[in-house]
Amino acid sequence: MTSRGDAPGPVALRLEARDVPLGGLRAMQVRRALPHRALPTIGAWCFLDRFGPQRATMRVEPHPHIGLQTVTWPLEGEIRHRDTLGSDVVLRPGELNLMTAGAGIAHSEYSMGDSPTELDALQLWVALPDHARHVDPSFETHRTLPTVELAGRGGAGTATVILGTLAGVTSPATAHTPIVGAQITVPAGATLPLPLEPAWEHGVLVVDGTATVADASGALAMPDDGGVLYLGTGRESVAVGSPSGATVVVLGGEPLAERLVMWWNFVARDHDEIVAAWHDWNGRSARFGEVPGHGGVRIPAPPMPDVRLTPRSRRV
Ligand code: MN
Repeated sequence: MTSRGDAPGPVALRLEARDVPLGGLRAMQVRRALPHRALPTIGAWCFLDRFGPQRATMRVEPHPHIGLQTVTWPLEGEIRHRDTLGSDVVLRPGELNLMTAGAGIAHSEYSMGDSPTELDALQLWVALPDHARHVDPSFETHRTLPTVELAGRGGAGTATVILGTLAGVTSPATAHTPIVGAQITVPAGATLPLPLEPAWEHGVLVVDGTATVADASGALAMPDDGGVLYLGTGRESVAVGSPSGATVVVLGGEPLAERLVMWWNFVARDHDEIVAAWHDWNGRSARFGEVPGHGGVRIPAPPMPDVRLTPRSRRV
């Protein structure tokens, strides 16, 4: 598929986040903004969870993924990642874990130590396009990422380019579609120009402090905490301001033309691919393998629904 997705134009839509309990013995609460019932994807970004800030003992036991990349971006605390490729990495704020599931991988994510600790992180998924979704799995850690200075009124801020390209600066992390994910520090009292790619759609998430977003028409109404301000396409920039300082994340990319079937930890194109992944994981197939160090413990795929899974559609 080479055709572009829908281009909704310069909209301003509040995608409110919802609380989702993660299962397991030590249940954690997350705030989920994507997928949203109005919008399954922003560019190829298809999933956005924030866990924290909270005190928690994170024990996400081995579980599989297909057809996506996971982006782990800690805001506070440390996360240990292990996977079926043998990776074993401790990640800290400002560092990126990018796991490309492709045809299939499994991983675990733990906080450090055995007692509750301060944790806050973003967990995002990027849908792999059709030409890349069956690639061999891979895993990358990037401990330094490129930055862009955004000089504005009342001060200058810094954008860290996590994935893709912002203002001509490109992250070393592997991307398979035209995309951007960046974290921007807005100093108190500053208003910064945030450059956008007009052909792409974008969303803005405030992760710390209070921020305003404005375009030529004026200030745009912001979502509640944890929500995403969806901007659609067709803007060259917006102005991001903060009276007392803020950290915001911008997510964007070329609208994805492909319709995704998402279920549990799998991103596919039809029901039968999900069923195959379900059997391969619950049957302990070599497609996924074992994450070392867990003694065979894993999160089983839950029962599949009785209905056939269908693609999520855009309502924007
Ligand atoms: Mn995962």
